Amino acid sequence: TRRILIAGNWKMNTRSADAASLAKGIVDAVGKSPAVEIALCPPSVYLASVSEVTAGTPVELGAQNLYAADDGAFTGEVNAAMLTDVGCQFVILGHSERRQLMGETDACVSKKLHAALAGNLIPIVCVGETLEQRETNETEAVIESQIRGSLEGLDEARAAGIVIAYEPVWAIGTGKVASKEQAEAVHAFIRDLLGKMFTPGVAEQIRIQYGGSVKPGNAAELLSQPNIDGALVGGASLKVEDFVGIITAAP
Ligand code: 13P
Repeated sequence: TRRILIAGNWKMNTRSADAASLAKGIVDAVGKSPAVEIALCPPSVYLASVSEVTAGTPVELGAQNLYAADDGAFTGEVNAAMLTDVGCQFVILGHSERRQLMGETDACVSKKLHAALAGNLIPIVCVGETLEQRETNETEAVIESQIRGSLEGLDEARAAGIVIAYEPVWAIGTGKVASKEQAEAVHAFIRDLLGKMFTPGVAEQIRIQYGGSVKPGNAAELLSQPNIDGALVGGASLKVEDFVGIITAAP
């Protein structure tokens, strides 16, 4: 059975003091043995300080991006070795904001995926359709090409350990959450696709998170769907009460 993973994507928010107090609030609220797996993904400049708060607790740490190269002349970039060095277990890859604003392509996400795995990080690979694509019935085609492209070259042995995040672009930061039926339908489609790309047994092990306007009030119904294995939370991960409300809503 797949363990539910609730991850907070803080995006480009917080200052050092808020980052530390948010992390501390969450660590204190979840206690020693939470029923679900929990990860915080602060901005890279705060990873080390948040890591001091989460070290020795069940709360894990993730980065929001990496650069797929070993140390060298890559001004402004951070690689997998640096992320594990500061205590990361996870890295978010191919978030729609990076795809839209920084021009990340599936090929670029695939390179990052291999760098993450080679560096012992668990990649959280984000995919999702725009509103226009949903309205023109392209959702499945878009998701399939993003997954096939982003997971290019991934072998079966490593596939089971990755995490996929289905984040419909129209639901991100809009307050317009996908219904549990809409989300479950895409998650089931993704699992079926992963079964064809790898094996059904591998697909059964891959966790698929939902992201996009997840709140304490809608988390329970989403997380109780058979193919929804967690949440990637943006806005609601910036308040202890909201994030903990989502964690405790998990079935
Ligand atoms: P919101 O929860 O703010 O809609 O953001 C979702 C998201 O993009 C998480 O990666």
